[in-house]
Amino acid sequence: MSHYQIGTNCLHAGYRPGNGEPRNFPIVQSTTFRYETSEEMGKLFDLEASGYFYTRLQNPTNDTVAAKICALEGGTAAMLLSSGQAASFYSIFNIASCGDHVVSSSTIYGGTYNLFAVTMKRMGIEFTFVDPDCTAEELNAAFRPNTKAVFGETIANPVLTVLDIEKFADAAHSHGVPLIIDNTFATPVNCRPFEWGADIVTHSTTKYMDGHALQVGGAIVDSGNFDWTRYPDKFPGLCTPDESYHGVTYTERFGLGGAYITKATVQLMRDLGSIPSPQNCFLLNIGLETLPLRMAKHCANAQAVAEYLEKHPKVAWVNYAGLPGNKYYERARKYLPNGSCGVVSFGVKGGRSAAETFMAGLKLASIATHVADAKTCVLHPASSTHRQMNDEELAAAGVAPDLVRFSVGIEDVKDIIADLEQALAGV
Ligand code: PLP
Repeated sequence: MSHYQIGTNCLHAGYRPGNGEPRNFPIVQSTTFRYETSEEMGKLFDLEASGYFYTRLQNPTNDTVAAKICALEGGTAAMLLSSGQAASFYSIFNIASCGDHVVSSSTIYGGTYNLFAVTMKRMGIEFTFVDPDCTAEELNAAFRPNTKAVFGETIANPVLTVLDIEKFADAAHSHGVPLIIDNTFATPVNCRPFEWGADIVTHSTTKYMDGHALQVGGAIVDSGNFDWTRYPDKFPGLCTPDESYHGVTYTERFGLGGAYITKATVQLMRDLGSIPSPQNCFLLNIGLETLPLRMAKHCANAQAVAEYLEKHPKVAWVNYAGLPGNKYYERARKYLPNGSCGVVSFGVKGGRSAAETFMAGLKLASIATHVADAKTCVLHPASSTHRQMNDEELAAAGVAPDLVRFSVGIEDVKDIIADLEQALAGV
């Protein structure tokens, strides 16, 4: 299917019904699969034959949707997980363990930051956080002999920095490690990080991919481009026999295109079990079918909202990469030529209390701890996700007290702007 355009692949990749078969692929709502002999089952356990035996490892519905996301990103293998958090964790834990080190952009989703800086640190994996706009020299200085990966977000949540993916890929490769990109906000419709040198892509499919705020999920896609076998000492888990899997060496048995995802599936998913339900994967697929239509509308609406806010006398500042004066405008034109995402952040004059009054006045937009779905939603981090912090601590975290994160939906933009207008009038 890869010769089709992305809009076609959003509908067709991963599933081609045979004669008389259902047009929509079935939800295989079964934990387990029946076999005639123990011998056949044994071959599956030894990875000598491919087939399904237990949904924690693989399920046909999940695999169909994973294959679609794989095609959308232009990868060689993909897996679905029960959350974006699980995807971020597996993507690194698959190649790094206690005693290892990872370089990460400092502007990443707060939950990912906590996972890296607190939970994974407790597991013995150290992270060095770098300013995404640092120089190549500063970036290179962050590497250590035990560095195993570099991590960043195409468009960071919530500060909306646009990552210079090529700069991060060059640094990662010159130190013999892969670049992992969380492509949640851009989606493959607006940016395909593999085309800029990234090696692995992760997603919180909870966001635009699902698009309707129906279910939490994650995905990991491998480009198949990173040659683990050039650094067998760095990546022994992929290049030497896995005793927990009958001595299989993943790079030998599954090649560069399949080793990373196979290991993450048969080892991490086997042991940690963050599998999404087939029902949720089916719902995710419905979202994927309309992803290009929704992304275009999100971006057009967000652009109009950002331009409206920029001119409003009660608005102190607006951050959206589609605005010509924005710090990331040129970089977004390079990496995101068709638009960035639907999330706009801005400050209301009058600080924290003005932001709270403005939010209370909104009638169409819902106050929600979510972004990137079809209905416009809004969050004031200083009084919700970051409410334990005082103004000084907020500044250190890059979250201004007046920052409003506005996730522009796909409603008629006239109604979204009218809602903003009446809420700002009340400030
Ligand atoms: N990555 C990004 C960019 C996110 O915005 C989020 C959640 O907001 C996550 C990862 C975590 O995803 P989930 O909430 O699906 O676990």
